[in-house]
Amino acid sequence: MTFHGGSDLATVYDDALNSGFGLIASNIAEPNTMIGLMEGAERVNSDLLLQMSNGACTFAGNGDPIAGLEVMGTYIERLAEQYDIGVFLNMDHQTNLETIQQQIELEIPSSIMVDASHEPFETNVSRSKQVVEMIEQADADILVEAELGKIKGVEDEIVAEKAFYTDPEQAVEFVDRTGCDLLAISVGTQHGVAKGKDIELKPDLTEEIRTALRDHGLDTPLVLHGSSGVQSDQLQEMLTHGICKVNKDTRYQYEYTRTAFDLYREGTDEIVPPEGIEDHRNTFFNDVEWAPNKDRFDPRVAGRDIRKRIADVYADLAETAGSAGRSKFV
Ligand SMILES: [Zn+2]
Repeated sequence: MTFHGGSDLATVYDDALNSGFGLIASNIAEPNTMIGLMEGAERVNSDLLLQMSNGACTFAGNGDPIAGLEVMGTYIERLAEQYDIGVFLNMDHQTNLETIQQQIELEIPSSIMVDASHEPFETNVSRSKQVVEMIEQADADILVEAELGKIKGVEDEIVAEKAFYTDPEQAVEFVDRTGCDLLAISVGTQHGVAKGKDIELKPDLTEEIRTALRDHGLDTPLVLHGSSGVQSDQLQEMLTHGICKVNKDTRYQYEYTRTAFDLYREGTDEIVPPEGIEDHRNTFFNDVEWAPNKDRFDPRVAGRDIRKRIADVYADLAETAGSAGRSKFV
């Protein structure tokens, strides 16, 4: 099945909330990670939520974030046809309303996360609400994720030195006033951290937020950012408290580079001339007794390894998060 919009994604979150599973929202900036994720998701029959930050769109678009979204959107849409799962795209950590307006007009994303969490509460409310209204005005099939509280760490260009945990009563007011579809909360995770021991998760606070929302008739799926270092048992506990979307970026970044590094490290002499042989790149080694091995240096060799590794990692994560075996989009 192909690339889906916000109303289909909403049915996945409904299912997730009712059944206690989560979607791993997986960041991409280029095609190898993207294809690996599609392979992994199809293998375990999970729907797939890809996401791109503004920095990732800018990278893919060679400096132009909208060009990056258009090319990656086309890439995703075309390749998603090969897979019998639902494939969705979220815009991660958007701060610029003009960029968001362009994303809405293109109607490429399934959902958009507006991040005004570093602003004062009233500014956060008005900006998040404005995005909800922009989507309504455009009559676009796009969900809105907003964030309340501050998550420590570095995400794209956004830096937070200190965490401010989400307050349950304020969360109710925020969701009520903004009309956002999903709420990202600050409950102890950190952006950009790959080690679980640096994380102090607060499942009790998550449950308080979930309960407060539900007591006010708001069945809002909750989002956990900065989850790369969260361990399997911790993650599964968070899923029982209304977390339905779990963001992972740093983990894939490491897997990508580590996979290429291992391939090149094992075959250093097939890429770089051994000691005693001059490094004649300018003649492509025509005048020395050594030649690099195309079976090692062709970028597709590393690319295939990366895709396979990312597929394995995603398949494991989807099993842990419980989205495996639950795709409804055949
Ligand atoms: Zn984040």
